[in-house]
Amino acid sequence: MAGILFIISAPSGSGKSTIVNQLRSLVSGLDFSVSWTTRGPRGSEVDSREYHFTTRERFEEMIRNGEFLEYAEVFGNYYGTARSTLQDAFSRGRDLLLDIDVQGASQVRAKAPEAVSIFLMPPSPEILAYRLRNRSRAEGSIQEEIIRRRLAKARQEIENYQEYGYILVNDILDRAVEEMAAIVAAERIRRNGNPEGNPPDRERLLGIAEACRQANSQNRIQPVLKAFGV
Ligand code: ADP
Ligand code: 5GP
Repeated sequence: MAGILFIISAPSGSGKSTIVNQLRSLVSGLDFSVSWTTRGPRGSEVDSREYHFTTRERFEEMIRNGEFLEYAEVFGNYYGTARSTLQDAFSRGRDLLLDIDVQGASQVRAKAPEAVSIFLMPPSPEILAYRLRNRSRAEGSIQEEIIRRRLAKARQEIENYQEYGYILVNDILDRAVEEMAAIVAAERIRRNGNPEGNPPDRERLLGIAEACRQANSQNRIQPVLKAFGV
């Protein structure tokens, strides 16, 4: 059986990496796609763990060779998902999570309409700015220009939220992680009838995931949209 393709997109600094890292220890059978990028490693990032770091020339050669399922230019650098990453995960019977931007997500949805897409929102621009500054400080220096650009980009990205099946607001971290795990479990139950057997908290997981569907999360989304002026 083909694996399930999960996509998560979020404005930079929303807490996506933090949530995805926690998800790794909670969910089995799920691979985390390692993208290719032309940006340099940040903080403690290691080649082939967070990203496959490469040159612009090599990336453009991969584009010409049709090696990417999707790619996009984000903040002046290329980022892309290799087709081989999907083939590798699915041939081993695993599901795959792509952490990609809104342009990449739209390319994947066009090629794989059955993909499950999740958009993660920060609670407000003020909290996003605070998180971006904290992260920059932890990595050595705060560059206000970069933070300003990322906030402006966040608003544009949030405008695309309607393209996504599920919406999460990363206010309380534990809750957002629990919601992500519930979405993965619910989609597995829905599509595969849950081959691992019914989890004891099946109804609770289905309920949490259902509440995160875009149509059911308007009460949570509206204040965020208003705060970002969307
Ligand atoms: P992203 O991967 O979306 O760019 P990160 O996961 O690097 O974002 O998170 C940005 C910063 O916000 C980090 O310093 C992280 O520790 C912090 N953070 C993430 N989620 C929360 C949360 N729910 N509450 C408070 N801080 C958070
Ligand atoms: P960062 O530089 O902060 O790691 O990532 C910047 C943005 O690039 C994030 O929105 C992230 O989701 C996106 N991104 C990371 N990998 C890919 C990819 O393979 N394809 C696309 N389209 N976007 C990616």
